[in-house]
Amino acid sequence: MKPRESRARVDAVRRLSTAILEADLRLEEPPALEFDAGQWVSIPFGPKTVRAYSIASTPQSRKVLTLCADVAPGGLGSAWFRALKPGDEVRFKGPLGGFVYTRADPRRPLFVAEEIGIVPIRSILTELYATGFGRPVTLVYWARDPGWLAYDAEFRSLARRYPGFAYRPTAASAAGAATDGPSGLAEAVLRLVPDVAGLVAYVAGGEQTIHRVRDVLVAKGLDRKAVKWEKFW
Ligand SMILES: Cc1cc2nc3c(=O)[nH]c(=O)nc-3n(C[C@H](O)[C@H](O)[C@H](O)COP(=O)(O)OP(=O)(O)OC[C@H]3O[C@@H](n4cnc5c(N)ncnc54)[C@H](O)[C@@H]3O)c2cc1C
Repeated sequence: MKPRESRARVDAVRRLSTAILEADLRLEEPPALEFDAGQWVSIPFGPKTVRAYSIASTPQSRKVLTLCADVAPGGLGSAWFRALKPGDEVRFKGPLGGFVYTRADPRRPLFVAEEIGIVPIRSILTELYATGFGRPVTLVYWARDPGWLAYDAEFRSLARRYPGFAYRPTAASAAGAATDGPSGLAEAVLRLVPDVAGLVAYVAGGEQTIHRVRDVLVAKGLDRKAVKWEKFW
């Protein structure tokens, strides 16, 4: 879909944890938005200042989009998200980005998320399972603390219902676990992904994590181009 200037109104705001908020935006113009799971919208804050937010909901819901933010960074975007309340108007440009999963891709998908990097992956996985994806999928998800694993209960429930979904959350606070995202995820991928044959990886989070995880996968023999990434910070 071509990105377009859009206008929406906040329907609801929910707190998922101390610093993670969700906001539902009801589209006004256009009245419905087509997008692919994994895409994001751009919120303008000035002539050259924008913040990107991935769409947490799935393309099945075209009239109401859910965004989800970690407001701990505390800059412009966090302050804006924290202040959102029902009835507020939101202008954005979207949908944008190519961090999308192609169902026709015969490779085995591995998703790797560092904290709030889970948002586009939540949209992709929810859509895949809602529309009958029978193939194995692995999600390796790291956060500083279990309370920062947004959507953890949803993923646990998916894993119970679909034995092909291997959900591997790790929190830095667990005994013996690495305390930073890049090391935590690189170690987890090293341990949990023994075989990279026929794999395609989707990594979202900070730049250092993307590099470390890609290095681990490439060292195991994966083609660099089989690692797709979305850099949040
Ligand atoms: C394609 C894309 C999609 C994104 N989707 C989301 C999303 O769905 N939800 C979301 O919360 N953010 C998302 N982001 C990040 C978002 O655009 C903002 O950067 C973030 O909200 C922080 O903005 P800020 O103005 O509060 O802080 P800033 O002033 O921009 O950042 C302050 C500092 O914190 C660092 N930082 C930013 N975010 C994090 C973080 N989560 N953890 C650790 N350090 C961080 C920045 O690099 C900077 O050094 C996305 C970014 C991109 C590029």
